[in-house]
Amino acid sequence: MKAVVYHGPGQKSWEDVPNPTLQDPTDVIAKVDTTTICGTDLHILKGDVPAVEKGRILGHEAVGTITEVGSAVTTLSVGDRIIIPAITNCGKCSYCKKNQPSHCQTVGGVGWIFGHLIDGTQAEYVRIPYAETSVHKVPEGLSDEQVLFLTDALPTGFEIGILNGSTKPGDTVAVVGAGPVGLGSIMTANLCGAGRVIAVDMDENRLAKARELGATHTVNASDSDAVEQIKALSHDGLGVDVAIEAVGIPATFTTCTQIVRPYGSIANVGVHGKPVELPLNDLWISNVRLTMGLVDCSSVPNLLNMVASGRLDAAAMATHRFTMDQFMEAYDLFENAAKNQAVKVVVSAS
Ligand code: NAD
Ligand code: ZN
Repeated sequence: MKAVVYHGPGQKSWEDVPNPTLQDPTDVIAKVDTTTICGTDLHILKGDVPAVEKGRILGHEAVGTITEVGSAVTTLSVGDRIIIPAITNCGKCSYCKKNQPSHCQTVGGVGWIFGHLIDGTQAEYVRIPYAETSVHKVPEGLSDEQVLFLTDALPTGFEIGILNGSTKPGDTVAVVGAGPVGLGSIMTANLCGAGRVIAVDMDENRLAKARELGATHTVNASDSDAVEQIKALSHDGLGVDVAIEAVGIPATFTTCTQIVRPYGSIANVGVHGKPVELPLNDLWISNVRLTMGLVDCSSVPNLLNMVASGRLDAAAMATHRFTMDQFMEAYDLFENAAKNQAVKVVVSAS
């Protein structure tokens, strides 16, 4: 088969590799029908994720069709269409039993293994460990594109942004960074009844997309008075109830500390590559709550119900479409997302 193989920082190719085979009785093999590229893949290609070894097949988001099932698999069959989330859930360890598979101890202490610790989904076929407890069948009548972004961007924006931020009905939520993950928060903020949703980004295309997907207000982060503008948009001018950091740099974390109101929450979603200053000396007296985390993908069944009932248009994140033989072109476009007005690319079997 063919797959996107990582060959060290800055190097990848769409090349021939051996087909995956069943290794454990709880595995299934799936043909990848549709996959996508994540900002995290770009981090890997910059060499920021040293756990990814040369020769690793990239990708951790896909929709596929089962072609082989292990001997212990009873609830999945050949031909089933499945959503393959970024996080693997063994169903047995203390974390997975608490529905916290981001720290699955069985698969190595971190539930993100595809395209990280084992071969991933940017391939014609993929081996899926602990398939019964990790994948979800695609409900009848839904297209791949309607469910593809339930594998990472949407549950991350919802779980680590909206839910960790304890968003309550009527709250003003500011999302700093309107990339796929920030847009995931914007698209799901109404599930907790957010009153206002303010998208903050310096890219006007992303701000336009944010308005299309549910932001009630936008603020350009390059404006020198951006913090004042955001605070002015809160109900009483004292700051937002929930400040979501969805970029992963010190400056945007600082913005969150400046826009949050007393008794508000900062939900950090971004992956930071270096230490970030935490002004506890200012924040302690404001009763501010700070959360952070790796997505569990535990909300996928709920989000899937919302998509199936037509209440969540998850496909709206897709801006560009490719076939797998164009994978390198898809990467080129996504690596220059701002220039190409790209949010998410959909890469389908050729
Ligand atoms: P992205 O790079 O596509 O989007 C980031 C957005 O932030 C862009 O629209 C960019 O224009 C904007 N931005 C950059 N600098 C800014 C600034 N100073 N002020 C305001 N906006 C600014 O990233 P993404 O794929 O949406 O992911 C966002 C973050 O979430 C990344 O750090 C990613 O690694 C992280 N992430 C976390 C988890 C998790 O489980 N916690 C999961 C997936 C991704
Ligand atoms: Zn586990």
